[in-house]
Amino acid sequence: MIKIKVSEIFTSFQGEGPYIGTPATFLRLYGCNLNCQWCDTDISTYEMLSVDDVAEILMTQMEFNNINLLVITGGEPTLQMEEIKRLIKELPEDIKIQLETNGSIFEYLPEIEYVISPKEDKEKVFENYYKFENVFFKFVITCEEDIDEVISIKNKYGYDKTIWLQGEFSKDALMADLIRENFPRLENIKLSVQTHKYLNQR
Ligand code: SF4
Repeated sequence: MIKIKVSEIFTSFQGEGPYIGTPATFLRLYGCNLNCQWCDTDISTYEMLSVDDVAEILMTQMEFNNINLLVITGGEPTLQMEEIKRLIKELPEDIKIQLETNGSIFEYLPEIEYVISPKEDKEKVFENYYKFENVFFKFVITCEEDIDEVISIKNKYGYDKTIWLQGEFSKDALMADLIRENFPRLENIKLSVQTHKYLNQR
């Protein structure tokens, strides 16, 4: 029996990124391979659950709440990619699955959607994934150099799809100002805000 390390399962709104505002059930997986200084995700505890049990819990929450979006997040969910692949096989095909990842471990599945928030080696992560239709990028902005880096990557790869820019939460109003000041240099960007934190939602 395949088991997976689960930090939490809950149902709420997707608070950020391309699906902002959409009701979703979240599967937060344990563990991360990075150690970002601003990280505020609590992945300190986990339960080992069988993939079958996780599928049943997810479907119970999704059916009860009329939800069609499953967000698999972390931590870094690709650390448990084999388990995720097994889980997907247990779920109905008509569910939309969104994987939130830092992209540092290359794992690609055509049947799900990716929201990639590169944290280290950003250009390498971008290069690995940017050609796929089912991939969206969300960059966390902490200073003007981060905006410069996004512009440089967009230009180098001729990327004209939307990119989401999200200020680090502790200074996201300042970062929104900075992004606005950089409008003349930016194309096809959208601001992402962690609305769930402002609304005291999970
Ligand atoms: S990649 Fe995400 S979960 Fe991992 S340390 Fe950075 S912010 Fe936290």
